[in-house]
Amino acid sequence: MPSAPGGPRLLLRRLREIMAEPIGAQDRLDKIVVLIAANMVAEVCSVYVMRGDGVLELFATEGLNREAVHRTTMRSGEGLVGLIAATAEPLALSDAQSHPAFSYKPETGEEIYHAFLGVPLLRAGNTLGVLVVQNRTYRMYAEEEIEALQTTAMVLAEMIAAGELQALAPVETGIALRRPVYQKGIALADGVGLGYVVPHEPRVMVKNLIAENMEAELQRLDHAIADVRTSIDELIERGDVAHHGEHREVLETFRMFAHDQGWLRRMREAVTSGLTAEAAVERVQSDNRARMQRQTDPYLRERLHDLDDLANRLLHRLVGRDLVAERGSLPDNAIIVARSMGPAALLDYDRSRLRGLVLEEGGPTSHIAIVARALGIPAVGEVANATSLTEQGDAIIVDGAAGEVQIRPSSDVEAAYAEKARLRARRQEQYLKLRDVPAVTRDGAPITLQLNAGLLVDLPHLAETRAEGVGLFRTELQFMVAERMPTASEQQSLYSAVVAAVGDLPITFRTLDIGGDKILPYMNAIEEENPALGWRAIRIGLDRPGLLRVQVRALLKAAGGHALKIMFPMVATCDEFIRAREIVEREKAHLSRHGHTLPRDLKLGAMLEVPSLLFQLKEICAVADFLSIGSNDLMQFLFASDRENRRVADRFDPLSPPMLRALKMVVDEAAMSNCELTVCGEIGGRPLEAMALIGLGYRSLSMSPASIGPVKAMLLSLDAGKVRAFLLDELERGGGGDTLRSALTQFAETHGIPI
Ligand code: PEP
Ligand code: MG
Repeated sequence: MPSAPGGPRLLLRRLREIMAEPIGAQDRLDKIVVLIAANMVAEVCSVYVMRGDGVLELFATEGLNREAVHRTTMRSGEGLVGLIAATAEPLALSDAQSHPAFSYKPETGEEIYHAFLGVPLLRAGNTLGVLVVQNRTYRMYAEEEIEALQTTAMVLAEMIAAGELQALAPVETGIALRRPVYQKGIALADGVGLGYVVPHEPRVMVKNLIAENMEAELQRLDHAIADVRTSIDELIERGDVAHHGEHREVLETFRMFAHDQGWLRRMREAVTSGLTAEAAVERVQSDNRARMQRQTDPYLRERLHDLDDLANRLLHRLVGRDLVAERGSLPDNAIIVARSMGPAALLDYDRSRLRGLVLEEGGPTSHIAIVARALGIPAVGEVANATSLTEQGDAIIVDGAAGEVQIRPSSDVEAAYAEKARLRARRQEQYLKLRDVPAVTRDGAPITLQLNAGLLVDLPHLAETRAEGVGLFRTELQFMVAERMPTASEQQSLYSAVVAAVGDLPITFRTLDIGGDKILPYMNAIEEENPALGWRAIRIGLDRPGLLRVQVRALLKAAGGHALKIMFPMVATCDEFIRAREIVEREKAHLSRHGHTLPRDLKLGAMLEVPSLLFQLKEICAVADFLSIGSNDLMQFLFASDRENRRVADRFDPLSPPMLRALKMVVDEAAMSNCELTVCGEIGGRPLEAMALIGLGYRSLSMSPASIGPVKAMLLSLDAGKVRAFLLDELERGGGGDTLRSALTQFAETHGIPI
């Protein structure tokens, strides 16, 4: 069996010399194939490059007919070369022609060759082409030869990535590096953002591929591995991470991988073949990423991701970059791409330069999604392979309404989205014009429109929308984005800022609504079968009164002489409300004894989210100053349909007769009992649903900032009396099936009401 003269190290050294020569791209490629063929003792060496249209084109060859260069093409999956591109795996055959995938291209004259070895040109897990050697004889290629060819392929992939071959490709397609990719994810935060990729954890671009001194590189690799191992051990031993739970598991897995002999051996082998330590890590990481993209088993994918993270740590250690410093200097029109991200990290970025967020993970109720919505940043989650498909500076579009991402979009796609963004901006301008128009229906019913908020970044929306106050301040968000439990004074300072921002307008704080899906990373999670029905919200508040007391005191102090409304989440019985009220009364008395100014007017309310309250309305109205309907939870409990579970979350409609009848019961009883009433769940912010609520008799709605404009535009054209008559008649008749959505939509269309 012939063996490579000089071995891979000599090959890499010669490659480096060729790369440095001042010659054109085609000449360089031609020299490279001659060199590889000679080094591998092969009669043929060919390079196929993936064009932007996904077609593989022969770019250079030694041994096949030269006329076939730039003429022979094949689709991904077609022939042996196409197969390698599609699977991103090497293929070694002693007789290519007897392989079922072999496809004969007469112009190449390859019929006389039998042995075949092809490897993908991989970069960051993407296949950029295929490198092939062939021999006349029937022979098996040795493991070391496959390794050597893969290492060489890496150098070629870098050459392609550097853009050097772009000029050799047809103008209309370019090469695959620039290929547009469309990915469907899930909508997290509304809006359209056009910009350029900024990786949250930038990959280290390895520039120095070929080693000068193998021993020194092996040492560098060993030191870096030892460093990374020590830092993981320290993290685990320092005990910063909770003893159970996800963080610790991730670290334990890291530790396991950091000692994985197979992984270490592959990296050392890559160094022995002539690569620098960082290039060796990248080489092995690239194979791993290619596997990751094809892996469908979620558990194995997760493990491959862990390995990828570990390789990244190693690269950072070897090349020594300061990520935090880089994060501070964000370019304009930045779209952050991350595998996952904590909410606090998003707040670290310069908001004025941020145009969007793309995550490989992150559901619609994840904390990062909440923060993205609060900041008004279009965001899409669950975008498969987002980090490996993109590179720093790639053009990218985020459609946060449709849950779509366009990576390196073609110019017509870009134009379509730019138009969409312009339309949206125009609509926003129109809403802006409505800012100072009083929210009164055509027949003179005034409707109070307030904001839902939860973070400091929400407060400027008050002035932007001219909302009439904050109808729901979700105090748990401060707790959710923090690294540790906020202290009493941190809570008070946030509440003071909110009180100052609302000025004379009303403000309703909701006490901590944690538990269920709202998990605090620093609090030991309690395993529950049904967390949505478990120990949460006011139940925690009453069982751990210390927590509630601290918060109530902070609220009372922050309000000073300002009017204040406090409401309790998830109240299920009147007794719960009364006990919570007693805690507030005690705090009030305590502060008063110590000479603090008390709120000018203090109102205490209950959120109506648990159906049990529907059947004690008179009683709850008698003890509470106001009620606020949390329709998100009320819907989930009324229909026994988990709001977090995508299979069932949208199965039932709030515009269904049962929900509408429940809502009517509440508004009728509140009117009779003279109890103030608001809706602060999502339905208040959707124009069609808001129209139905007004029809039922609701006059106060609290919603996210982006909803104020559309809801106001709707109600300005609405005749409240007419929609009431229509809706009550529909409910009375019991028609409309499971939902009145289409009947109400038709009503809006007939009456020219924008919904
Ligand atoms: C609701 O349940 O409707 C509500 C407003 O509260 P949250 O969405 O925060 O649970
Ligand atoms: Mg709720």
